Amino acid sequence: MENGAEYYEELGRLVKETYAAEEAEKIEQAFVFAFNAHNGQLRKSGEAYIIHPVAVAKILIGFGMDYQSVIAALLHDVVEDTPVTSEEVKKKFGETVALLVEGVTKLGKVPLASREEQQAENLRKLLLAMSEDIRVIIIKLADRLHNMRTLKYVPEQKRRDTAKETIEIYAPIAHRLGIRPVKEELEDLAISYLDPVAYEEIKRALAEQEPQRKEFLDSIKSKIAARVNTVVKDATIEGRIKSVHGIYRKMYMQGKTFEEIYDIYAVRLIVNTVSDCYNCLGVIHDMYKPIQGRFKDYISTPKPNMYQSLHTTVIGSEGIPFEVQIRTVEMHKTAEYGIAAHWKYKLGYKDAESNKRIEKGIGWVHDLLEAQSESGDVSDIVNTIKHDFVSDEVFVFTPKGDVICLPVGATVIDFAYAIHSAVGNKMTGAKVDKHIVPLTHVVKTGEIVEVLTSSQPGKGPSRDWLKIVTTSEARTKIRTWFKKERREENIVEGKQEFERELRRNNITPDEEQAAALMQIIIEKQRVATEDDFYAALGYGGIILSKIMPMIKEEYNKLARTAPEKEVKYKQARTVSSEGVVVDGIGNCLVKLSRCCNPIPGDEIIGFITRGHGDSVHKRDCPNVPSVINTAPEPDRWIRVYWSEDTKKDFSASMLLTCLAGKTTMNDIFSALNTIHVTVYSINTRDTKDGRVLVNVTVNANSVEHLKSMMARLTKVSGVLSVDRSGADL
Ligand code: MN
Repeated sequence: MENGAEYYEELGRLVKETYAAEEAEKIEQAFVFAFNAHNGQLRKSGEAYIIHPVAVAKILIGFGMDYQSVIAALLHDVVEDTPVTSEEVKKKFGETVALLVEGVTKLGKVPLASREEQQAENLRKLLLAMSEDIRVIIIKLADRLHNMRTLKYVPEQKRRDTAKETIEIYAPIAHRLGIRPVKEELEDLAISYLDPVAYEEIKRALAEQEPQRKEFLDSIKSKIAARVNTVVKDATIEGRIKSVHGIYRKMYMQGKTFEEIYDIYAVRLIVNTVSDCYNCLGVIHDMYKPIQGRFKDYISTPKPNMYQSLHTTVIGSEGIPFEVQIRTVEMHKTAEYGIAAHWKYKLGYKDAESNKRIEKGIGWVHDLLEAQSESGDVSDIVNTIKHDFVSDEVFVFTPKGDVICLPVGATVIDFAYAIHSAVGNKMTGAKVDKHIVPLTHVVKTGEIVEVLTSSQPGKGPSRDWLKIVTTSEARTKIRTWFKKERREENIVEGKQEFERELRRNNITPDEEQAAALMQIIIEKQRVATEDDFYAALGYGGIILSKIMPMIKEEYNKLARTAPEKEVKYKQARTVSSEGVVVDGIGNCLVKLSRCCNPIPGDEIIGFITRGHGDSVHKRDCPNVPSVINTAPEPDRWIRVYWSEDTKKDFSASMLLTCLAGKTTMNDIFSALNTIHVTVYSINTRDTKDGRVLVNVTVNANSVEHLKSMMARLTKVSGVLSVDRSGADL
């Protein structure tokens, strides 16, 4: 090797130590191939690009991954970022490697409207690839880990976006796969970019206590060792400290002080057998006073990521509480490396037993993909990962004694849907510990929940349940029910909407063009038939305004090849002074509703009030029914839209969630000042969990304008989130 030898030196040494000679040779070939493909490309840090794939390969060797994973790591960016094709990779390095590389390659620029949609589609593709070969996600996590380690070179906005995506999507995935070191490093890095001030504060607090902590842990460890060793053989005792992000969550999300966090310190006992675990627990509870309600048996009820351990929090003689975790050697390997333990500890990738465990560990991937294909909405995947993966869990029992694991805050309806969608759909009520409870009842660990069902035909969930449930799983299943049961109505409404929108955009295809256009739409939206497309429109699974630009473009292509046609389309219409168009009604009084303050760019809908004209709402305003056809008086809801030129000043409100004591009104005003925004009103109130909510009403021209303000406000120190809100609080 001549070119790039200096970049391979260290990796080459590692590879020779780890893999058989012929495997090492193939890895070296992959390096040369990647080096040539990326030659001339630089990272944001100014270094040669090859540094990145080499670093990812090293991380994977650290996980104990096989040589194919290492080859794929070296090649993981060549298809996305260089002229090399997937075919070439396949020819040179075989089908498996090509599939791994293909799996981590992002989709090409698909004509999707928003960043969120791109993110959701890419994630869906990643999960699909991972359900074929789990190594895809491990490579992706290693890739993200190195990118996060070197994120400081990236421009600020991109840095925040990537850090946010990491903490919302990739850390939860690492958590669900049980790969603890990766999860913790990703979270800590994300916090260091998203809230650098708090990050440094926690680091400093930890460093200050370092000497006392070591002394404290050492004394506990030796006391425990003396007692435990009389009961079990070869127990290993370790001390550990909670991660920065773990402390951050408790301090800022749960409003605790540094001193109030019990499990900053933890002692871990690793023993040989399960019965040793319970014996040790007895010893610990004999030595120290346990804190009520802090004991958890994850051995009899493993966490969804396969984690097993006994947890208890006790108070030491110094009055300092600490957590004790007790588990077997096997459990410890899974706790540390989760899915990756199969490679790390050479548990074998091919044998049946470990395959079964891998299958079990990634069952959620299949569930997620299945739920998504039923609902037809890719954003479901993102929402489930964001909301259901990270929360703490409660364990609830069925009357038969089966354990159902749910995120904290879940209700009896979530419980019913977690058992099966058929149970949820037929639910009429619930009993907890034999007493009837309301459907809003939030379940707690240890409760026995019985779901009451009705076998009456025609029984189904209520739309109100969507406001009660907290898991994305239940929400998706309820929406899927409405989607299926109301299919006929959805088709009719969707078709009407589609035809209206075509007319409005002067899209007047002849029969042949209409058929061709529909074919393109069906392919691009990945639906099976024309009716499926209409049904998805009617149900809201496809948002027409988002795909209109694509439809216009495709129609123009088709129309260009056809002879010119005269456009004939005219009917009664109103254009209000704000720029809202009402088709079909002349001289109509138009009012923007105060509850949601719509502004140009928002998807809107009109409601014909009695005697006060047309009141215009945002389509997603809580006062607008989600499906019009089944709402009372559906005829009074009418389609309205923004004209090409709208007036220039609207009032719009934003809700800022801030950390108490971290954000000043001055910071917010000066941020708004730098972009010359007129503020109409500003209101603040404190919440119990240590946050301040700030509602700002400003002058805005359009959604884009408002979004740029929101982006600016997100950067203000201590601001956790900025959301669009209705009128003043
Ligand atoms: Mn990469």
